[in-house]
Amino acid sequence: MLPTAAAAAMPWDRRAPEREGPPSAWSLLPEDLAARGCPGRPEHVFARLQRVRTWQPDRLFVAREIRAWLADHTDQSLPAILERHPSYDGSTKLVLGLADGQRIEAVHMPRHEADHRVTYCVSSQVGCALGCTFCATGAMGIVRNLTAGEIVGQVLALMRDLGPRCGESVHLVFMGMGEPLHNLDHVHRAVTVLCHPEGAGLSPWRITVSTAGLVSGIERLARMVPRPQLAVSVNATTDAARSATMPVNRAWNLARLRQALDAWELKRHERFIFEYVLLAGVNDTLEDADRLADWLGDLRHRHNVNLIPMNEHPHSPFRGPGEQRLQAFAARLHQHGCFITVRRSRSRDVQGACGQLVKQREAAVG
Ligand code: SF4
Repeated sequence: MLPTAAAAAMPWDRRAPEREGPPSAWSLLPEDLAARGCPGRPEHVFARLQRVRTWQPDRLFVAREIRAWLADHTDQSLPAILERHPSYDGSTKLVLGLADGQRIEAVHMPRHEADHRVTYCVSSQVGCALGCTFCATGAMGIVRNLTAGEIVGQVLALMRDLGPRCGESVHLVFMGMGEPLHNLDHVHRAVTVLCHPEGAGLSPWRITVSTAGLVSGIERLARMVPRPQLAVSVNATTDAARSATMPVNRAWNLARLRQALDAWELKRHERFIFEYVLLAGVNDTLEDADRLADWLGDLRHRHNVNLIPMNEHPHSPFRGPGEQRLQAFAARLHQHGCFITVRRSRSRDVQGACGQLVKQREAAVG
């Protein structure tokens, strides 16, 4: 008997390949350092690794014996910033190189001049298994998971090179390359390390994990501590249209996704973010806006809908909706009582959509 579509293994059912080697020094919590026999006070060593090393990369300010232990038992490489592409809008798109030669992307986005807060958009995987048809990273396929140390290292490298050097001013969004819930173990460990009070000092309230709708991951993340905020890319309002652009919908359709969100026990101040990438002629009609409001149901009165005009790139046939269509769509949602923001992609002039620079580089050398 032929396997049914539901029974066939999907690319995201398999764990993505992992990098081999000693654990990254940046991924070890104080209790891990203690359990592995690190000399010295584990909290002190952890704090030095997470803070001082960031500002003064060649000086760890720990005893020689501890430095020797770390050199023997851990990998201390930080992702290297290989390219910087400053945009007219103040953001900077970065290409970072990993120890095995793989490349990933991150974006540094200051709010505005009067506000010292900065949002970092970071990657969770090299490539992505989910294959959304509008996405340059999806066109790469999955190469491997980032380790927790590489995710923490991305953040520390950005703090060190572009600031701010105070974790309390950093907002972190997992919206770069990869589906973070397909690499949930490493992403969650990275969040735990970054939010440790002796570490970089980020808050889970200021960390957002964005998923294309990997329901198994949403259900796991719902039970995790610390729990970052959740953003969900909806991007279509019928199962047929969503399955055509986001293959993950064939495993977990819109109804199943909504069910997983209903089961997420929201804390008092917690909000979902619903992202909707508008693709001209595909999902941008007023009927789509009506169906989106219906699907959101009572969630639309409390949570935010982020409308994102498609950031056009050569690896996708899709186009943005045009200003008039975008405004009409937003107005219709507003009539339905939705909270809406329109997110113009930052760093559009430097190919701000995730995966574009790395994909372009692959094409040039391939
Ligand atoms: S949009 Fe996100 S989940 Fe979809 S292919 Fe791109 S990186 Fe993966």
